Amino acid sequence: MNENSKVDFFEVVARKKLGVGEGWRWCKSEAIGEPPNHEFLIEGGVPKTLKSGPNKGKTSWKGVPLLKCVVTRLDLEKARAQYEATTRTCWQCQGSKQTIASSSRTDGNTYRECTRCGGTGEATL
Ligand SMILES: [Zn+2]
Repeated sequence: MNENSKVDFFEVVARKKLGVGEGWRWCKSEAIGEPPNHEFLIEGGVPKTLKSGPNKGKTSWKGVPLLKCVVTRLDLEKARAQYEATTRTCWQCQGSKQTIASSSRTDGNTYRECTRCGGTGEATL
């Protein structure tokens, strides 16, 4: 399973608010306020893909114009609800039925059954 292919709800919300396209990615995020009523300030742009050199094919943020966007918990809830309504798939595991239990650079990721959908991968909203 490729984690990078999963929908990032911060990006879904920010793209809509900023009116930017699919290529827009966030690169910095900051929590504003105290949990559970905090919001997020995210900053991002459309990263470049390096076409040559030792890091060919990798993403570069050098010189990329960045836009800031505030994403609230309500924004995220709405985006997740919309995702479940349109795909009929659990937003947490996005149909993979598993979520990451731990993440390690040396050992890779370990997975456990998604607790949100109980391992069915189906929408619960
Ligand atoms: Zn799930």
